[in-house]
Amino acid sequence: MIDIIASPDKTREILKENKIRLSKGLGQNFLIDRKIVDIIIETATLTANDSVIEIGPGIGSLTQGILERLSSGSLMAIEKDSRLIKVLTAQFSGYNNLDLINKDVLDIEWHSFFREKKLKDGEVKVLANLPYYITTPIIMSLLESNVLFKQLIFMVQREVAERMAASPGGKEYGVLSIAVQYFARVEIVHEVSPSVFIPRPDVYSTVITLYPHQKPSVEVVDRQFFFQVVRAIFQQRRKNIKNGLSKAANLNFTREEVVSSLAEVGIDPRIRGEKLSISVLAKLSNSLWEKNN
Ligand code: SAM
Repeated sequence: MIDIIASPDKTREILKENKIRLSKGLGQNFLIDRKIVDIIIETATLTANDSVIEIGPGIGSLTQGILERLSSGSLMAIEKDSRLIKVLTAQFSGYNNLDLINKDVLDIEWHSFFREKKLKDGEVKVLANLPYYITTPIIMSLLESNVLFKQLIFMVQREVAERMAASPGGKEYGVLSIAVQYFARVEIVHEVSPSVFIPRPDVYSTVITLYPHQKPSVEVVDRQFFFQVVRAIFQQRRKNIKNGLSKAANLNFTREEVVSSLAEVGIDPRIRGEKLSISVLAKLSNSLWEKNN
């Protein structure tokens, strides 16, 4: 039985014993409050035989909580910092269901990873207190991969969580909201104070959970084109939709095409694009696609 890692004293002790100075560049803010670990674990509703991936295990605060819940299930923990892999190897030597992977998570191609680890589509949960400097690339790499995750549970910066979960009309609603909600249902779980980390970050955090859709939430003729249209609209978010789209660089729509598509979908040309729901944006992009292909 090892002591609880997610505590201030144990964390300082492990770092001191291993002579580890934390790296700001790798987003190393470690959790020192077991209550928050438990909230993340409860949100994941882990069962004994789950297959779990943890991104950035650090010195194992969350890893410990996950391993306590698994018996026949397995945990694959992906950590870039080899100093921490050493600590984790020693800390969890008693667990044969922990697979420690010393890699940059952004270098992982998920389809090959699933094949190599014999994982099944729709059965894997991903948990992480994410390194904040690459939150969005990590989440998008999971959502855009051609494998289906069962559930994603992440600690992220509060503002990023708000943007991911935002509804049309608010100032947080934007490309990130649409990109994430295209692939998954997003729920905000719990707000977290900077005081539960060593060192304290400058920002508040939020635990969120994402339930990936089996099929994207809306049907678009061409996904790349849809996101081009969405990006163009939000780059000009203060303009009305007609002017924003007519002037969008690299899309080259004529004013007539824009006016005609807006009318077809029933969108008032004077409103701002940021008020449009993802399903209306999908219809608009499909109509514009037809006129351009
Ligand atoms: N899970 C631990 C905790 O809650 O205390 C640590 C979380 S800390 C916010 C982020 C972790 O991600 C660090 O251990 C860091 O070394 C690791 N990390 C940073 N960049 C990474 C990358 N590109 N690939 C994999 N791990 C990374």
